[in-house]
Amino acid sequence: MKQEFEVAIIGGGISGCAAFYVLSEYSDVKNIALIDKCAGLAKISSNAKANSQTIHDGSIETNYTSQKAAKVKLSAQKVRNYALNKKLQNKAIFEYQKMAIGVGDLECEYIQKRFEEFGSIFPGIQFFDKAKLKQIEPKIIEGSDGVDRYENVVGMGYEKDWCGLDYGYLSEHFVKEAMEKNTNNATFLNYWVNKIEPRGDGYALVSKQGDEIYAKFVLVDAGSYALPLAQGMGYGLDLGCLPVAGSFYFVPDLLRGKVYTVQNPKLPFAAIHGDPDVAIKGKTRMGPTALSMPKLERGKHWLDKISWELIKLDANMDVLKIILDLMKDSEIRNYVFKNMSFELPYFGRKGFLKDAQKIIPSLKLEDLQYAKGYGEVRPQVLDRTEKKLVLGEKKIITNKGITFNMTPSPGATSCLENAMIDSKEITAYLGRSLDVERFYKDLSPEEL
Ligand SMILES: Cc1cc2nc3c(=O)[nH]c(=O)nc-3n(C[C@H](O)[C@H](O)[C@H](O)COP(=O)(O)OP(=O)(O)OC[C@H]3O[C@@H](n4cnc5c(N)ncnc54)[C@H](O)[C@@H]3O)c2cc1C
Repeated sequence: MKQEFEVAIIGGGISGCAAFYVLSEYSDVKNIALIDKCAGLAKISSNAKANSQTIHDGSIETNYTSQKAAKVKLSAQKVRNYALNKKLQNKAIFEYQKMAIGVGDLECEYIQKRFEEFGSIFPGIQFFDKAKLKQIEPKIIEGSDGVDRYENVVGMGYEKDWCGLDYGYLSEHFVKEAMEKNTNNATFLNYWVNKIEPRGDGYALVSKQGDEIYAKFVLVDAGSYALPLAQGMGYGLDLGCLPVAGSFYFVPDLLRGKVYTVQNPKLPFAAIHGDPDVAIKGKTRMGPTALSMPKLERGKHWLDKISWELIKLDANMDVLKIILDLMKDSEIRNYVFKNMSFELPYFGRKGFLKDAQKIIPSLKLEDLQYAKGYGEVRPQVLDRTEKKLVLGEKKIITNKGITFNMTPSPGATSCLENAMIDSKEITAYLGRSLDVERFYKDLSPEEL
C-alpha cells in the first residue's frame, strides 16, 4: 500500500513528538507520519537516562546571558504548563528545590550580581547565604570532617519549582494525544530513513530496507542525524558537527534538589551539576562530563557506533581549524583532557571526585558510581563560514517543503517552542490553518 501523508516527521525524540502533537492538536493538517529508526520513542537523547532531566528556564543556568534566559524562560513555561495541564505531576514532571551556587569570594560576588540582574526576569527568585544554604541544602556546606567548609558559599534559586522532567515520558504522552486527536496519523518505528528524494510535489523517505513513505512536507527532527540527512540533499554544507558525549556519575541521595555551579565563560559546555534522578528514586546524578567522540550516538562500547556519516561531513580543513583553534586555549585544552580522563576506570572516578566535591565537599570515592548506559552525545554545530562553534540549536530552512532541526541542549526544554515555529512554517507552506491563539492560551498566556 502507498503510504502518503501531508507531513512526515523524521525522529521520534522529544522534538519530533512535540511537533506531531502541536500539528495534530492545533492545525487542520490532514494526516501526519512520525517515523523513527528505533523500536520505541525517545530512545536516544530524549530518554530519561540520556539527559539531565531539567526544565532549563535560565534562572540557575549560569551559562545563559539575561537575553537567553528571558527567551528560554518562555520555552520552559510551555513544557511546564503542558505537563501540569495534563496532570502529569510525579509521572513526567517533578517538583524540587533548585539553585546555582558560587563557591569562594569571586564566585559569590558573581552570584550576587547575577541575582540583582536576573531578579526582574525571575520575580520570586531568592538569594541564599551560607547559613540559609546550610539549612536547605546541608551537604553543600558540610566539609569532609563534618565541620562547615571554610569558603564562602552563596546561591540563588527557588525552594520549590516544577523543574524536573522525564522527556521520554513526555514524548510518549505527546504521541498518545496526537494519535487520539487525529486518527489518520500514523507512527512508523524501526524505520531508518536512509535517503530523502524529491518526488512530485513532495518527498519520498526511503528506508534502509527500500520501503517508501511520501509526504508533501518533511520535518527532520533526527537529532545528530539531521545534519547528515541535510547534507545528503545538498543543504547545510557550510556546517559541521562536533559531537560531545556527556556521561554521569551516581551518588547516593545526598542532595535535596538541583544544584548548579558557576560556569567558566571560556568553556563551551555547562559546568557539572547535581540532579536527583526523576526515574530512579534515591539516586542523584552528577555530571554531565564532556568528551568529544567520533559518534553521532553513543554505543555500548568504545568502538560501537563510530559514525562514517560524521567522519564524511567533518573531513575538511575548516572543521579541523575550528577544533585546533579551540585547543589552542590552555583552559579548553586542560578541560578536554580532564574530561577524557573521566572515562577511564578508577582514575576517572578519582578525577571526577575533585570536581564533584565542589558541590558536595564530604563526598567520598566509594560514593561515586559511573552511570553505565547513561548520557548521550550533544551534537554541537560548527559554522564553517564563520569558523566557530555555534552553541545551541540550529535550523536549516529550505523553503522547499523540508526543514532540518539540530537540537543540542536546551533542545528538550524548547520542544514546544520549536514545534510551534515549525508548525507555522508547515501550515503556511501547505495552505492549512493553525490555531496559534489557542496554543498560547493553553501553554503560555503571558505571550498573548
Ligand atoms: C548529557 C545530556 C544532558 C542534557 N540535559 C538536558 C536537560 O537537562 N534539559 C534539556 O532541555 N536538554 C538537555 N539535553 C539536550 C536534550 O537531550 C536534547 O536537546 C533533546 O533530547 C533533543 O531531542 P530531539 O528529539 O531533537 O533528538 P533525539 O532525542 O536525539 O531524537 C532524534 C530521533 O531521531 C531518530 N532518528 C535519527 N536518524 C534517523 C533516521 N535516519 N531515520 C529515522 N529516525 C532517525 C533517532 O532514533 C531519535 O529517536 C541534554 C543532552 C545531553 C546529551
